[in-house]
Amino acid sequence: RMRIAVLTSGGDSAGMNAAVRAVVKAGISKGCESYVVREGYEGLVRGNTAPLTPRRVAQRHLPPERLARFSNEALVKNLSFGEGPALKEGAGDADDDEEGGTLKGRYIVQVGWDDVRGWMGEGGTFIGSARSATFRTPEGRLKAAHNLIKEGIDGLVVCGGDGSLTGADRLRSEWPELVQQLLASGEINEHQAALYSHLKIVGLVGSIDNDMALTDLTIGAPTALQRICEAIDNINSTAASHSRAFVVEVMGRHCGWLALMAGVSAGADYVFIPEQPPKSEPWEEEMCEVIKRHREVGKRKTIVIVAEGAHDRDLNPIKAEKVKEVLSNVLKLDTRVTTLGHTQRGGRPVAMDRILPTLQGIDAVNALLEATPSQPSYMIGIRENKILRIPLVDAVQQTQAVAAAIEARDFAKAMGLRDPEFDQ
Ligand code: ATP
Repeated sequence: RMRIAVLTSGGDSAGMNAAVRAVVKAGISKGCESYVVREGYEGLVRGNTAPLTPRRVAQRHLPPERLARFSNEALVKNLSFGEGPALKEGAGDADDDEEGGTLKGRYIVQVGWDDVRGWMGEGGTFIGSARSATFRTPEGRLKAAHNLIKEGIDGLVVCGGDGSLTGADRLRSEWPELVQQLLASGEINEHQAALYSHLKIVGLVGSIDNDMALTDLTIGAPTALQRICEAIDNINSTAASHSRAFVVEVMGRHCGWLALMAGVSAGADYVFIPEQPPKSEPWEEEMCEVIKRHREVGKRKTIVIVAEGAHDRDLNPIKAEKVKEVLSNVLKLDTRVTTLGHTQRGGRPVAMDRILPTLQGIDAVNALLEATPSQPSYMIGIRENKILRIPLVDAVQQTQAVAAAIEARDFAKAMGLRDPEFDQ
């Protein structure tokens, strides 16, 4: 029986719970044992240090027929993953198992079918996500590899953004070396080294920014876009009433998808995105000219959307406050700034962020079951409405190439890499 573990990593996005649910249920339905790794890569590095006590099992207070449907370990949701303050490097576990019956000292947890019941429509990620500095180090990845082997996990699904999938790709490429190191230091034996010689790993893209190359849509992006649209709809009514201008800052460090799509959905006057800065210098003139034209034909409101990573052609940041100053001083518009911040991440996933992670989670399990050592590791994507397997290494490299093209100020290349159909 294959043991499949799933983790969520990096910034949370709506639909991650649905992805975990899909992997857990698809795994069980195909005869595997399903596990979750709490707190992203940090949980993989920490592993299980506390024993699985009978107390944890007894705590469930459930009739035996219900109990049979749950895993051997604590109930994921009912016992809660609460660890108190956010996990920090070296901070240790903040929770007390005696009181809360939580999963202190256990980060790789077996789960059953009912453990993930009701997760589909919930925002964020119940199994926790963290940014792990330790996993970035060779020692951290060695520990992670050791913990996976100790728990007998032979398939791993990572749901996260480009950073998390870069980490997954790194673990995959270093795996044979890590196994040899563990063997040499006596942490694992020859039998384990042979059994776990190949890491089966699959990536699911959970990111609100829609910033991963070679896939059309990432898990969480449709919900974030929906939240932005709702916020701009609310702003629109006040903007029109008072004939105001609003500068709305949305997320997106290297990727302007949210800003651009929000601009289309909200009928914004002007949008700043990292991949394509305003064509003319100085950008202020171009923006003011467009907005003036819109005002002249009778528009009572002005909406400018700024992606958080927006900049001019020399890579000087374009910030919402600066845009406001220009609109106020040059066009004399009564201008306000709205930074949507974390409201974009949260909340219930829209239908697409339930469908996408469910279909992709199921395919992630299939990909693990079908994986052979000669095949590359895959990222599950979607292109032209089809769920596809894309070599993880290609997706990671092309995503990094977009960021590098922006850094090199080759904006046409950045747009072309992002969207091959893009026409200058
Ligand atoms: P978001 O899109 O929200 O930023 P992300 O997955 O890109 O999500 P990161 O903070 O970049 O978020 O990465 C999450 C975690 O993945 C890091 O904390 C680290 O543990 C791991 N990681 C990222 N890059 C690497 C890398 N180059 N090598 C090893 N691990 C990495």
